[in-house]
Amino acid sequence: AKQQAGTTVLAYAPEMIQRARARLDIEQALGAAIAAEEFFLEYQPKFAAHSRQLAGFEALVRWQRPGVGRVSPADFIPAAELTGQIGALGELVLRRALRDMAAWQREGAQLLPVAINVSPLQFRDPQLADVILREAAAHGIEPRFLDVEVTETAAIGHLDQVLPQLAQLRAAQVGVSFDDFGTGQSSLTLLRRLPISTLKLDRSMIDPLPEPKAGAVVRAACVLGQSLALQIVAEGVETEVQAAESERLGCTHLQGFLLSRPLSASAAQALLPAAG
Ligand code: C2E
Ligand code: CA
Ligand code: CA
Ligand code: CA
Repeated sequence: AKQQAGTTVLAYAPEMIQRARARLDIEQALGAAIAAEEFFLEYQPKFAAHSRQLAGFEALVRWQRPGVGRVSPADFIPAAELTGQIGALGELVLRRALRDMAAWQREGAQLLPVAINVSPLQFRDPQLADVILREAAAHGIEPRFLDVEVTETAAIGHLDQVLPQLAQLRAAQVGVSFDDFGTGQSSLTLLRRLPISTLKLDRSMIDPLPEPKAGAVVRAACVLGQSLALQIVAEGVETEVQAAESERLGCTHLQGFLLSRPLSASAAQALLPAAG
């Protein structure tokens, strides 16, 4: 960088310029894509560990970008957060999930809980819990069929904003899942303070099973979860050995490619029992 009369001129390597352009491109396109609703949801089933019965779904957003194809949420969620568009995208995801659930219900299915991923930044909106409950009511969905998945970064530093909203959701019987447990700081204090109903053990904890040290860590997390009366989901289960180990160590639920990939809304609907 060179100083010139009070301005800074930065010299960028070509690949940095390219990366910046790609990001700018995605950011500009995101705004239009949100307006055009180019997003849809897939639903990955969660199963009870012992019976392997379907217990619910996690909604995962997909962007079908015209002329480009499928863009991964890992690519556009950070861009949406960076550009202040995550609130609008989050509302789109919420409404789409509720619309799909209402259709399942209308067509005679017995609902099971659907979890929605909520970005930490969405909690900056003090109305978030109100919006979730209002939209659920507007779609005729009982709050107990909704779950919000939050990462601990949602809570760190913003506990005063996050706590009352999670408490409001729990009081209305919306589930609250602590997502990606075992990554980051995984503060045990947060576990105690947040009104959560489910602990989701990150794939990085499950992947090395049945390695003994990995097993010891999963066991400890399960003992902690059990003593707080939480459901414990093993995420990213890819092998039968991982499934058996996760169950043996105390996980109550399993999710992962072994049991099911994320499914289209209609394929998810087909797994639901008929309303009695
Ligand atoms: P996540 O919440 O941890 O979701 C799990 C991710 O792991 C999903 O990837 C899922 O498809 C993938 N996965 C599930 N089972 C397996 C497995 O057995 N093996 C492997 N290798 N992967 C598995 P996806 O759909 O690409 O989502 C990535 C991340 O994007 C999510 O991680 C979540 O953080 C974020 N995300 C997805 N949808 C939304 C959304 O609607 N809103 C927000 N804010 N974030 C979202
Ligand atoms: Ca999640
Ligand atoms: Ca996760
Ligand atoms: Ca994750």
